Amino acid sequence: MATKRDYYEILGVARDATPVEIKRAYRRLARECHPDVNKTDPTAEERFKELGEAYAVLSDEQRRAQYDLYGHDAPAVRDWTAPDIFEIFNMAFGGMGRQRGPVVYGGEDLEAEVVLTLEEVATGVEKEVAVSRLVTCEECGGNGAEPGTEREPCPTCGGAGQVRRSRATILGHFSQIGTCPDCRGVGTYAPRECRACGGSGVVRRTRKLSVNIPAGVEDGQQVRLAGEGDAGPYGGPAGDLYVVIRVQEHPVFRRGGRDIACEVELNFAQAALGHVMEVPTLNGPVEIGIPAGTQHGEVFTLKGYGLPDVRSGRRGDEHVAVRVAVPRKLNKKQRELLLKFAESAGCKVTPHEGGFFKRVKEAFHDK
Ligand SMILES: [Zn+2]
Ligand SMILES: [Zn+2]
Repeated sequence: MATKRDYYEILGVARDATPVEIKRAYRRLARECHPDVNKTDPTAEERFKELGEAYAVLSDEQRRAQYDLYGHDAPAVRDWTAPDIFEIFNMAFGGMGRQRGPVVYGGEDLEAEVVLTLEEVATGVEKEVAVSRLVTCEECGGNGAEPGTEREPCPTCGGAGQVRRSRATILGHFSQIGTCPDCRGVGTYAPRECRACGGSGVVRRTRKLSVNIPAGVEDGQQVRLAGEGDAGPYGGPAGDLYVVIRVQEHPVFRRGGRDIACEVELNFAQAALGHVMEVPTLNGPVEIGIPAGTQHGEVFTLKGYGLPDVRSGRRGDEHVAVRVAVPRKLNKKQRELLLKFAESAGCKVTPHEGGFFKRVKEAFHDK
């Protein structure tokens, strides 16, 4: 166990300091190292407690005398429970302590979800969501008292919402302020509770709400509807409703921020010769001209056919990637034509029966 520091040393006063000097020193130091004030120093709370203990002893004439004579081993010092931090706080600050009035409870925030297609993201959309939430009781208007009766001040706390618990110790009276347990801090109660809401002032209802989703939103984004969460009891403020946006996977388009991408398939003849074709966009099909000699994997960009930016409204682009398809089967005529084409292109073709792997296998066995 660490040796206890001398109480005079802790307070930084002389052994013959007057009660006024002790009190002054204590108040000054307590304010310095109060953990609510001094958040940077991790030892502040420990020092604050130590200080409270020193002051509790030295400010008491009888215990100070004992301490002077016997030090920390004096019975009046040893057999005494140190005040807790809240009591020390009150000792140090007196009336400067936190002043709290009746508690006003707010309603909870709620969450709902809407599912959008990419087409809806492109234009923005108004969606309906069904929300089960607490609303102000229609019968009592939210005060929880049976219609025709009134709420009355809580007899336990007299309407303050908080109670002072006093404890007499050999050091004098210490008091602690806490939330009134009977009215939970509200300060009032209903002698006759509203039957419709059981006195809570709120009832659960499912309501449909219309939510405006701006164009360009991303999956996972939230739209906050202020005051559309649970109603607060007894006139407390309502919580908010957060609508979480889910964007469905699109069968054709992939999304990357404001840009979208898709693939179109071209026959190798179309790719070689060039081709006018329809490509899908979020605004419906659009005709584009694929130039002759287009390669597999080449990407064409349709400027402004992407999604709008949720803030600026500026649209991204659509990227169309070309897939060149090679025919899997050829009829006799096609085969002849292709061989002729290969010949005219100076391309040597060695047709063979069987698959690629068979050939590899044979080559391996030959060696
Ligand atoms: Zn009611
Ligand atoms: Zn009360």
